[in-house]
Amino acid sequence: GEPLLKIENLKKYFPITKGIIPKIAGNVKAVDGINLEVREGEIIGLVGESGCGKSTAGRLIVRLLEPTEGKITFQGQDITHLSQTGFRPLRSKIQMVFQDPYASLNPRMSVGDIIAEPMLVNKIAAGKDLRDRVKSLLETVGLDASHAARYPHEFSGGQRQRIGIARALTVNPKLIICDEPVSALDVSIQAQVINLLEDLQKNFGLTLIFISHDLSVVKHISNRVAVMYLGKIMELAGYRRLYASPRHPYTKALLSAIPVPKPNQVKERILLTGDVPSPINPPSGCRFHTRCPEAMEICRAEEPPLKDAGSEHHVACHLW
Ligand code: SF4
Ligand code: MG
Repeated sequence: GEPLLKIENLKKYFPITKGIIPKIAGNVKAVDGINLEVREGEIIGLVGESGCGKSTAGRLIVRLLEPTEGKITFQGQDITHLSQTGFRPLRSKIQMVFQDPYASLNPRMSVGDIIAEPMLVNKIAAGKDLRDRVKSLLETVGLDASHAARYPHEFSGGQRQRIGIARALTVNPKLIICDEPVSALDVSIQAQVINLLEDLQKNFGLTLIFISHDLSVVKHISNRVAVMYLGKIMELAGYRRLYASPRHPYTKALLSAIPVPKPNQVKERILLTGDVPSPINPPSGCRFHTRCPEAMEICRAEEPPLKDAGSEHHVACHLW
């Protein structure tokens, strides 16, 4: 069937200006031509080091940012250049959960009001129905209905993330983009929030894009995982295939950095040399070639396209 969300050749360049009379001196190529189809009901992990463009991609999809180029299709409708008014009927269908929920929760509003507000604004509920929904949403995310009267500062980081998730659910979204939703939380709390998101996905038939810098975080929740590097998707595969038989040297290096659970199992760590190059002037050819342990002559000259290597395993590398 048709994918819920289709991203084609999506680009976002941020101009850098220089001089007293500002002149454009270059572009930060945050997202530099990504293609991705997200199926209804799946959880897709979007992974890469900081600065790879994964958050920018998320913000483009929820239209917090205007793309420089490319096309975004949601439920068959081209939403790339919809005006605010044109996008309004769809706004509730695509929600975002942020890394730091505290920054996005109004400290002067009670949690009940924070959750009630989108339902009031979107005329979803009012009066007693609204109060009942607030309570039920709090319970859905594992909080107590009595918490409605409290304020954000009275909650722990994990609880605040639950409040952010409850608020995202108020408008019956189809797609939720979770941008590093557990990165600010203690490891012991991370699993709880991930489990909650997984339960919600099942119970509400949601589609999730789970953005993280950590492959081990998305491992247990994702149906498929896309690995990004310097604004591009390098590898995309079902999570089992990606973790068991990664093909891209970058994915291999990221996976080799995850500690193995069994101490008697020896794993060779692939150490990447050098820093991530600047997204202003990404390297020619394969943009990973400056750090790739397997780089060949052709890698400097030619950019490898993201190709289907069979079994829905896509990889952008000249080795394949
Ligand atoms: Fe490494 Fe070349 Fe593959 Fe890029 S294309 S990942 S440089 S082997
Ligand atoms: Mg980010």
